[in-house]
Amino acid sequence: MNPATNVNPAVNAKPNTYGHWINGAWHTPSQGHYPIINPATEEVVGHAPEGTADEADAAVDAARAAYEGWSRTPPQQRAAVLDRMAELLAERAGELVPLLQAETGATLRVTAGMQLPPAADRFRRYARGAVEPDTVALAPQPVKSSALAPGGLIGAAAVRRPVGVVGCITSFNFPVANLAGKLAPALAMGNTVVAKPAPQDPLTCLELGPLLKEAGLPDGVFNIVTGSGAEAGEALVAHPGIDMISFTGSTSVGKKIAESAGRTMKRTLMELGGKGAAIVLDDADARVLKSAIGAVASTWSFHSGQICTAPTRVLVHRSLYEQVVTGLSQYAQALTLGDPVDNSTVVGPLISAAQRDRVESYIAGAREQGARIVTGGRRPDLKPGFYVRPTLIADATPEMAVAREELFGPVVVALPYDDEDEAVRIANGTPYGLYDYVFSADAGRAWALAARLRSGNVGINTVQRHPETPFGGFKESGIGRDGGSFGLHAYSELQSLVWPS
Ligand code: NAD
Repeated sequence: MNPATNVNPAVNAKPNTYGHWINGAWHTPSQGHYPIINPATEEVVGHAPEGTADEADAAVDAARAAYEGWSRTPPQQRAAVLDRMAELLAERAGELVPLLQAETGATLRVTAGMQLPPAADRFRRYARGAVEPDTVALAPQPVKSSALAPGGLIGAAAVRRPVGVVGCITSFNFPVANLAGKLAPALAMGNTVVAKPAPQDPLTCLELGPLLKEAGLPDGVFNIVTGSGAEAGEALVAHPGIDMISFTGSTSVGKKIAESAGRTMKRTLMELGGKGAAIVLDDADARVLKSAIGAVASTWSFHSGQICTAPTRVLVHRSLYEQVVTGLSQYAQALTLGDPVDNSTVVGPLISAAQRDRVESYIAGAREQGARIVTGGRRPDLKPGFYVRPTLIADATPEMAVAREELFGPVVVALPYDDEDEAVRIANGTPYGLYDYVFSADAGRAWALAARLRSGNVGINTVQRHPETPFGGFKESGIGRDGGSFGLHAYSELQSLVWPS
C-alpha cells in the first residue's frame, strides 16, 4: 500500500505518489517527489520519490541486516519465493502493464509481450537457479610434506557463495525486465539487494517491493530507492556496505561507477552501450536479404531503437548495397508511428524530450557532414509526444559520429564495404562490442567471420535471442555476463575448501 494515497497505486486512476521501499515498507522521502512523464501524452503518470544519500544508507543498512538470514535460507525456500513472484507478476499483469506502458512509452504490444513476461520468466528461471549445484568437486592431489603442513592426499572443492549486498542500478527502456534480470539471480544466490532504477520509468519497479513481500521475501532482502538525479546511485556505489554493483546503462556512467566502485574493491557487472553492426555478405540470396532487412528494421520497430543490442549499423557488400538501402527505406516508410496504446502502432515515442533532441542532433550532424537521409530525419507532426520518425542514413563514413556513437533511437546507418577485411575493420571500429550480426547464405562462413568480431554476442541470420547464453560486452560495452547460469554465477564468489583425506 502506498503511504501517500493509501491505495494500491496500480489500480488508482489518479497519478500516484510513491515512497522508497525500504525494509519491507514504504518510506516517505525527505526531499519530496518528482513527476514521471508519459512519453506519448506528456501527462504525469505518477510521482517518484527523490532519493538522498541518507535514504540510500537506510536501504543498505536494511539489506545488510537481512543478509545473514537470507543467505542461510535453504535454496528450495528461496526458489519458492521466486516462483511465487513469477506467478504474481502474471496475475497482476492487468494492473502492471498499463502503468509500465505509460511510464516507458513502449507500444502496448511490446509492453504486454516483451516487458512484463520476460520479467516473470526471469524469476521463474532463477527459481531453478537457486537449486543449481553450488559446489565444484576437485580431484584429490598428493602433496608433499613441507614446513607449512604434513603431506598426504589433499581434498578440495570450490563452492559458490553469495557476494553479499548487491546494488542494482538500471537504465530506462525495459525497467522491470532489466531489474528482474539482476534481482532474480542475485536473490537466488542468497544475496540481498538495493535497487536504483532509472529516473525516467521507476514506478513499476517500485511496485516490485510489495509484490516480493507478498511472495514471501523477508523484509530488507529487497529495497529500492529512486531519484531524478544521480545522488542515490552515487551513494550506493561509494557505500562501504555494498559488496557488488550490477549496472546497466551508458558506457560513460559505467566508467564513473567502475572508478568509484574500485575504491572499495566492489565486484562489478557492467552491461553498457552498444553500436551493433549487421554485416550482409555478398553471398546473401533473396531469403537472407529479406531476413537481414527485417532484422535491421527492428531498430525502428522494437521500442523505437532504445535497445542496446540494436543493429544500428548495416554494413552491406557494395554489390548489394543499393538493394538493401531501398528495401530498408520501403520497410521504414510502411511502419506506423504514433500512439503506443493503439494496436496498429509499431513505432512509439522516445523516453523524453531530451532523448528526442539528442537523436535529432545526431541526424542533423550527419546531414551537415554530407550523409544522405534516405527516409525519416524530420520531426513528425505528432503532438504531444517525443517522437522521431524511423530514419535511414546512407553514404555516411565510418568516422562520422552517427556511425560511431550510440544514439539509442530509431536510426539506422547504412555503410558499404568492398571485402570482408573492410567489413571487419568497420564493425570493430567503435569502442563498443556488444552485439553484432552476420547475414550470409553460408552459415559456416558467418561462423568463421564471427571469430574476427570483437563483440560479446553474434547473431547469425537472426536477431533472435537464446535465454541461456552468456550476455555481455567486449571492450567498452561492459564487464561480466548476464544470462542463464552465467548470470547466476555473476552474483557469487568462489570459496575454496581444502581438507586432508
Ligand atoms: P545512464 O547511464 O544515463 O543511466 C543508467 C542509470 O545510472 C540510471 O539509473 C541513472 O540514474 C544512474 N546513474 C547516473 N549517473 C550515475 C552515477 N554517477 N552513479 C551511479 N548511478 C548513476 O543510461 P540510460 O540513459 O538510463 O540508458 C541508456 C543506456 O543504457 C544506453 O547506453 C544503453 O546501451 C544502455 N543499456 C545497456 C544494456 C545492456 O544490457 N548492455 C541494456 C539496456 C540499456
